[in-house]
Amino acid sequence: MNAEIIAVGTELLLGDILNTNAQFLSRELSGLGIDVYYQQVVGDNPARMKQVIGEAISRSDLVILSGGLGPTDDDLTKETVTDYFGLPLYFDESVMEEMTAYLKGRKLSVSNRKQAYIPEGAIVIHNNYGTAPGIIIEKDEKIVVMLPGPPRELEPLFCEQVRPYLRAKSDFVMKSKVLRLFGIGESTLGEEVRDLMESANPTLAPYAKDNEVTLRITAKAESEEEADHLICDMKEKVTARVGAHIYGEDEEELYAVVCRMLKERGMTIAAAESCTAGLFSATIANWPGASEILHEGVVTYANRAKEKYLGVSSQTLQSVGAVSPETAQEMAEGIRKASGADIGVGITGIAGPGGGTPEKPVGLVYIGVAHEGRTEVLERNLHGTRKKVREASVMNALFAVRKILEKRS
Ligand code: ATP
Repeated sequence: MNAEIIAVGTELLLGDILNTNAQFLSRELSGLGIDVYYQQVVGDNPARMKQVIGEAISRSDLVILSGGLGPTDDDLTKETVTDYFGLPLYFDESVMEEMTAYLKGRKLSVSNRKQAYIPEGAIVIHNNYGTAPGIIIEKDEKIVVMLPGPPRELEPLFCEQVRPYLRAKSDFVMKSKVLRLFGIGESTLGEEVRDLMESANPTLAPYAKDNEVTLRITAKAESEEEADHLICDMKEKVTARVGAHIYGEDEEELYAVVCRMLKERGMTIAAAESCTAGLFSATIANWPGASEILHEGVVTYANRAKEKYLGVSSQTLQSVGAVSPETAQEMAEGIRKASGADIGVGITGIAGPGGGTPEKPVGLVYIGVAHEGRTEVLERNLHGTRKKVREASVMNALFAVRKILEKRS
């Protein structure tokens, strides 16, 4: 089965909103083993919609449309598709009742009634997240799926109703696993696993994101067990080559891995931050249950603050400067001592754009991690804007903490 995605909405063409529905749907379809050959965006214009929809249905087995199912006159998706197939519309009382229940006593407008008209023979995608129902039409060996535009409606409706519907049409199982890697670039990773990327089943695909790279393993098989087996086999091969960089799987981000590991080990953390100015602590605080693991965080931007709150020696600051391995070490040890946490993190660096020198350029960052009588200090030369340098500093600090925790399983 090959598919095409059409996002409807003039606001997309004007650049007012990002077409996240296309990204979501493409990712979901690839996970189901359905090839997406085209993505299109069209405004709320009847003639252009007719042309785009007609073209899509004629060349693709499956067409998924997002948006244009609302109550207003410029919401024309359903009418255009129905016209294309020459299907009559009927008024569906049950959809009307659902809309009334969803609005919980708020008055239905006259135009809301428009949403309760369903094409003859269509499958209704019942919508508990909004008023417009989704619709599936199967005709002339084609499938057209229409979903409401708001992602908070489209995404759950796809996962709960469209995904099982499409899965049932397939006689094989597709499964995938994402390996998350840090500290290795996409091209180096590509060289390490080039031969594995030539495998047809399971496939292995790299994807570079900000500060990390992922590898998606996708297996196609007759049963879940067989697919799991194929994935496991590939994962072992990848781990044998780049295992030192793999920090997690699927949706779990690096900060969440670190927080989970701290909790599993009954350990606590505290941070003293200069160039990141609280970003490390704030990232840890994103984790639900952070209070069990995060002791404290201090922002010590000025040298005086480093001396006052962390006990960094004035001699260190004068002789080697605030951006130095010695200062990072004393910051990490100082916050560990002051807080009583198991792990103390110290981050100091030059985030830029100014402040760099030939000896200490913008992007130079030192990260100290103090734990049980030992302190490790990393030097990193990071690139990009001030924001990027600060974010990458946090990621590097998290990865360093993770390494220490791994040894203490
Ligand atoms: P509604 O009943 O809310 O009007 P609809 O199906 O008619 O639903 P649209 O009017 O096209 O949907 O879009 C409603 C909102 O959904 C948009 O203003 C936008 O915030 C969001 N949206 C629409 N299409 C997309 C898209 N492709 N990607 C991300 N968000 C989108």
